[in-house]
Amino acid sequence: MTAPLPKAPVNWIAVFALIFLPIVAVIAIPLYAYHHDFSLAAWISMFVLLGVSSLGITAGYHRLWAHRAYEATLPLQIILMIMGTFAVQNSILFWASGHRTHHRHVDDVEQDPYSINRGFWFAHIGWMLRDYPSGASNYKNAPDLLNNKLVMFQDKYYVPLVIAVHAGILLPIGWAVGDMWGVLLLGGLMRLILSHHVTFFINSLCHMWGSRPYTDENTARDNFVLAIATWGEGYHNYHHIFQYDYRNGVKWWQYDPTKWLIWSCSKLGLAKNLRRIPSFNIKKAELAMKFKYAEQDLAIYGLNVSEDVANAKLRISQEYDAFSQTLNDWAKLKEQEIQAKKTAVAEKIHQMDDKLKVEFQLVEQRLSHHRQTLNLLVSNFKKKTAN
Ligand SMILES: [Zn+2]
Ligand SMILES: [Zn+2]
Repeated sequence: MTAPLPKAPVNWIAVFALIFLPIVAVIAIPLYAYHHDFSLAAWISMFVLLGVSSLGITAGYHRLWAHRAYEATLPLQIILMIMGTFAVQNSILFWASGHRTHHRHVDDVEQDPYSINRGFWFAHIGWMLRDYPSGASNYKNAPDLLNNKLVMFQDKYYVPLVIAVHAGILLPIGWAVGDMWGVLLLGGLMRLILSHHVTFFINSLCHMWGSRPYTDENTARDNFVLAIATWGEGYHNYHHIFQYDYRNGVKWWQYDPTKWLIWSCSKLGLAKNLRRIPSFNIKKAELAMKFKYAEQDLAIYGLNVSEDVANAKLRISQEYDAFSQTLNDWAKLKEQEIQAKKTAVAEKIHQMDDKLKVEFQLVEQRLSHHRQTLNLLVSNFKKKTAN
């Protein structure tokens, strides 16, 4: 049993935005559709503006400001700030600071502002409707943002900015396409509600449904379907173990429009220093989880297929020893690399030792080999036990 929620005052602004506006939408949109019908342009504005506001949150609020996963030029920061303001999810400072707390204390019912261990409703939306102590922030974890003039400007003038951004985006579009009410209702109201829940799913469903290929030390999941809905943030298991990577869908084929946007911005000279976790660390985490799952599978089969299980156990544990050896070798190489870099700095040499490079490659190859062997062992074993 989790401790009951502390009593906390209602946050009326949040209630207005998250409860009252959806009620207005449910009544006004069908009524308007019945009497006037929406233009195609109004529908298109809803989808396009959903992308604009959601990407402002994912690429701006989340990956740039909360995690500093890349650096953005001032023009890009201004664009992302405007896009994020359009999503109406409070200021960058408040959002990013709270999100850092979420990563630091993930799943902790007292300290994670949207802990899933308080249930779906709380993690999704409930945490915002009252001013709970866990949701408060003194911004101690955000000195960089407190020093960022743009972030502080947005925080200071947040409400006028929200109004200005909405007027500046919606009114010209409504006027241009000749369907002001249609654009206000679909591109404005409906888009805002959709974009809210798209983000909220990351805190709720992405901590409930999906796989855990990189870590099982927290509730975060990888989920392709949610990645589609959340502009790539659905690879949340990867994100919680390697939060500083600018990619959430780390594999090149994983659907992550936010990473493609950031990458494109870097090609246009608007972003730089995109942070990537070294592939060795990623493979290491993945393989460690595969061993864990293989052992769990064996424990289940162990009840009825004893001889095969004994063999498989032996082979998997041998493979695990080899894997640990590779990790040790890699750690030693890393140590040598650090030393080599220190010497290089002292002697102003820029090249890493060639021999060291080759050895790193060999260790990487061994890791890939472990992965193949383990996959083969597991699939052979499953085939056997299935027969
Ligand atoms: Zn999370
Ligand atoms: Zn995050």
